[in-house]
Amino acid sequence: GMEFKGKKVLVVGLGKSGRAAALFLRRQGAQVTVSDIRSAEQLGKDIPALIEEGISVEAGGHGLLTFRRQDLIVVSPGVPLDTPELVQVKKFGLPIIGELELASQLLKGKILAITGSNGKTTTTTLCGEILQAAKLPVNVGGNIGVPVIALVEESRSDDWSVLEVSSFQLETADTFHPNIAVILNITPDHLDRHGSFENYAAAKERIFANQTAEDSLVLNADDDAASRAAVRAKSRIFWFSRKRAVRQGAFVYEGAVVYRASEQAAPEFILKLDEIPLKGEHNVENVLAAVCAARLAGVPAETIRAAVAAFKAVEHRLEFVAEIVGISYYNDSKATNVDAAMKAIASFPGGIHLILGGKDKNSDYSLLRPLLEQRVKAVYAIGSAAEKITSQIHGVVQVVSAETMEQAVALAADAADAGDTVLLAPACSSFDQFENYEHRGRVFKELVMARREAGVWQS
Ligand code: ADP
Repeated sequence: GMEFKGKKVLVVGLGKSGRAAALFLRRQGAQVTVSDIRSAEQLGKDIPALIEEGISVEAGGHGLLTFRRQDLIVVSPGVPLDTPELVQVKKFGLPIIGELELASQLLKGKILAITGSNGKTTTTTLCGEILQAAKLPVNVGGNIGVPVIALVEESRSDDWSVLEVSSFQLETADTFHPNIAVILNITPDHLDRHGSFENYAAAKERIFANQTAEDSLVLNADDDAASRAAVRAKSRIFWFSRKRAVRQGAFVYEGAVVYRASEQAAPEFILKLDEIPLKGEHNVENVLAAVCAARLAGVPAETIRAAVAAFKAVEHRLEFVAEIVGISYYNDSKATNVDAAMKAIASFPGGIHLILGGKDKNSDYSLLRPLLEQRVKAVYAIGSAAEKITSQIHGVVQVVSAETMEQAVALAADAADAGDTVLLAPACSSFDQFENYEHRGRVFKELVMARREAGVWQS
């Protein structure tokens, strides 16, 4: 085990997991410092709370001396590994470790880990609910909810930890070793940070790098980049597919989700497609992945069926907001990349008024053109990416420049006819105009609800 008593540990980045790591290390008796480039003012009440626990805080930038003085450096997933101070101290041989790596070395019990470009939160939440329905001792965390480090102290050897892991977390995970690993899909995202698609895919593949023949890897047979991982894995491989029967794993057969435990086994009925309470084919993929993982964890088919049928869309994921004068409003604020936005658009047959835009992540919006042409009546472009989006999609669809969410909702609602859908699926991050995607989604929902109130009042 790792011994932290009296060790000097620096936590870089004061996000949710950085804060949890600092507090954990402090409880273990380490001398903890946190360093963040945000100013003391931006960090606000986090600072006194940490100081109260005996943690030193360096705000408004990183000092090289602060970094050099340590025995161990823990990096938050939001911090780029090419941060100059990290590069410097790495040369001196100082151990640098990510929060997921630190936590997973200390976590007791089994791990079911889920990664992918899109669908992680939905699938992780669903897996957590299925395992819970089976009355297995389960903790859900990682990139959603509770940071993994915060699960460590309570974990026991018969627990399942269901973890959502991002490519950023995997980048610094050297010994991470899940019993069951799931790669949902690999599509371009975060290229601003990972540099290239190859680097990004390589980070995702670290989820199975330490797996052995005792462990299971669940892969998407319909996704080329994800299935290419198979050749490098030592794990037992299970597949899921929406389009065809697979050797072993979960697939769609005659309108139902079925599971085959091995090539020799007969497919076992899990549930009918129309029992899945979520919109969109991408959610069928999430369900297939969760079914596969849950069967591997030993959950009986009938328990899975009941848990899936009772599942509710996670907030900001193709979440139904309201129907006003026959127009439906959907909040998919979490569609922060082009692929997620495509999946959202593809979930409706047509008549879509689409709100796109925000902060660009070096994305190629021209990929949206075929779907826009087929299903979208008009695009309302908001935020700092509006100009780039407009230039990449012009010609196939009417593009309305809207600047703010408020204008976009008003313009879309006015233009929409009964039977149409106003969809927020921005294909961008939110940081130009909002605190985060949750904030953006809430603003959208509030604007929609205000229209509903106004409508009721007028009639
Ligand atoms: P993540 O945690 O990976 O961001 P979420 O479950 O929060 O995934 O979903 C993010 C967005 O991606 C959703 O808003 C939805 O539009 C889209 N999405 C969900 N599942 C998938 C999938 N399997 N493939 C592609 N897009 C998906």
